[in-house]
Amino acid sequence: MSPDVQSLIDLQQADKEIKRLQDEVASLPKKVAVIEEKLAGTKAKLAKTKEAIKGDETARRKYDSAISDLQQKISKYRDQSLAVKTNDQYRALLQEIQFAEQEIRSNEDKILELMVNAESREKDVKIVETELKAETAEIEKEKNAARERTAEDEKLLTEWNAKRDKARGGVDPDMLRHYDRVAKHRGSGLSEVRDQKCTACQVILRPQVFNEVRSSGNTIVCESCQRILYYNPEHDKEVQAEAVAKRRRAHPKFEASQAWYYRPEYGDHGEVFLAFVNSQGGSSRRIYDSASGRMIGDILAREGEYRLAFPEDLNDTIRLNGHWKESDFDEWGPELPTFVLDALNSDLHAARVESRSKPHSPAEGAAVQHPAAS
Ligand SMILES: [Zn+2]
Repeated sequence: MSPDVQSLIDLQQADKEIKRLQDEVASLPKKVAVIEEKLAGTKAKLAKTKEAIKGDETARRKYDSAISDLQQKISKYRDQSLAVKTNDQYRALLQEIQFAEQEIRSNEDKILELMVNAESREKDVKIVETELKAETAEIEKEKNAARERTAEDEKLLTEWNAKRDKARGGVDPDMLRHYDRVAKHRGSGLSEVRDQKCTACQVILRPQVFNEVRSSGNTIVCESCQRILYYNPEHDKEVQAEAVAKRRRAHPKFEASQAWYYRPEYGDHGEVFLAFVNSQGGSSRRIYDSASGRMIGDILAREGEYRLAFPEDLNDTIRLNGHWKESDFDEWGPELPTFVLDALNSDLHAARVESRSKPHSPAEGAAVQHPAAS
């Protein structure tokens, strides 16, 4: 990887982090504003309830004074009734008195209604006041948290800006201009190539372009999204191994006349491959060093099929794919040929990748301990 590309990777990381921090700093006052709005709403509710109470009090005074006016009227009518001359006049006054008494009762009813109302209004005020208190406390807490977070973010921003400046200094000016231009329009200006694909736009690279990116001499840009491309063989190896494992790893059959296993340790030896062959009521075992392919010890034959004949050998093993003619074994002699060794090692790698990618559902035959392993 060229130093320009390494600096661009650093730059991209700094740009991303700076954007994240700036967004966070901008979002903090908004969060406070939302709570402030809620608080304003609660304050308005409280003011309205208190105003309603005041209105009720005014109404009550109005009814009270109406009652006392009516009472004065009644006593005036009573005085007048003592001086009346005719029955008609007397009856008229009496009617006036009755009418005033009715009015008094209706005012008294209204006052009673207000008193009942007042109780629920007082309750409302208490509830809203409690809400207000809680919201005020919350907003203070949020404001403090936002202040602290902002200060922290600002500090990080200073650090990341310095890293960004340093990274920019390490990139060729033309390349930097291109990066800036694409980043402005697309949000990022650099993209890693994995599995022959631009990871940003997912377009598959032409083989020639892919080779150019891999050889990493010149700056190559994605023909589809214009981002500067780079290649990390370490990342790609994982991607390819996983893809191969997912696509192609066949699982060995449980019942097979020939079976291959990997074992991380065998006696004094380290990693080995074990080959078992069942034939005519018996079975044979060969052990090979997994690195050199050289046979360890002699061929061992026992009665019965291999699972029953060699149970102790099957502990902590990984079952592998592999099937060759029995006559091939004789041809190979005391050393596995390279193509067999490569095939076993590559299947072992695939089995490990497979078991890593599916940790909770061990695949049949792959990386599964033999039932005898207990
Ligand atoms: Zn692209």
